[in-house]
Amino acid sequence: MIACLRALALTAAAALICPLTLSAAAQGIPASMLGKEAKQFFGAARTGSRQTPAPFGGYAKGCISGGVQLPQTGPTWQAMRLSRNRNWGHPQLVDFVADLSAKAARLPGWNGLYVGDLSQPRGGPMLSGHRSHQIGLDADIWLMPPSRLNHTIRDRENLSAVSMRRANGAYVNSGWTRSQHELLKAAASDPRVARIFIFPGAKVQMCNDETGNRDWLRKIRPWWGHHYHFHVRLACPKGARGCVDQAPPPPGDGCADAQQWVNNILNPPKPKPRDPNAPKPKPKRELTMADLPQQCVNVLQSQ
Ligand SMILES: [Zn+2]
Repeated sequence: MIACLRALALTAAAALICPLTLSAAAQGIPASMLGKEAKQFFGAARTGSRQTPAPFGGYAKGCISGGVQLPQTGPTWQAMRLSRNRNWGHPQLVDFVADLSAKAARLPGWNGLYVGDLSQPRGGPMLSGHRSHQIGLDADIWLMPPSRLNHTIRDRENLSAVSMRRANGAYVNSGWTRSQHELLKAAASDPRVARIFIFPGAKVQMCNDETGNRDWLRKIRPWWGHHYHFHVRLACPKGARGCVDQAPPPPGDGCADAQQWVNNILNPPKPKPRDPNAPKPKPKRELTMADLPQQCVNVLQSQ
């Protein structure tokens, strides 16, 4: 190991011989974490780190220091599936969810929000589920209006979410009302929000129903799944160095794009013939600490 490090100092060619040592040494990754799945470490953290709140890395490859917990129950929300311990995030995300839930409570028939996954206490990759939600800036919000906001912890494990889609996501079903439209509009109009993911049929429905300003529709992005909940992604907070924003959505309201997506659901294009000589796609590798920003070791090791 020492010889390897010394060689590294002398010649770049040595990096080819011991690349793991190079990145591990450069990032200060302790031996106990080397080569292991990062999700095991982040999945085991029970609380946020006692540090200044700061996202590090990108939405699908990063972590967060100083994560704070969305209270399990607030005046206008309840966090669901508490056993997952994923109601953590950057303070801006927690504020955003509280603010949006207050707006939801003013919609007819709604008294607030059921809130799904935010991030783990220190962010990072998860043992199950999402690829993103890693830097405390993503939140899943249920699309069904809460019947009440005094569910027990057990209820919140078991209560079924209601899907809002029909025909594989090409259309909304009868659960969808103007209230979801207004809720999504309020979320997308919030300057903290970078984009929102929802199934394509919902985007097209909102495109058809909106008669006023359409600017907010730009942030609504059609995506697979997302018919039980929509997914809000905040932009990196001001001054958060080390936080990597996603490129903004293309200009315009994106409605033609969403309609094309729906058309493809209804009339799937013929799959392209597979090139028999094409190399097999590589299976996705689990992230290790060496894949994450170097601050993430410190985030895990902090009190
Ligand atoms: Zn999500």
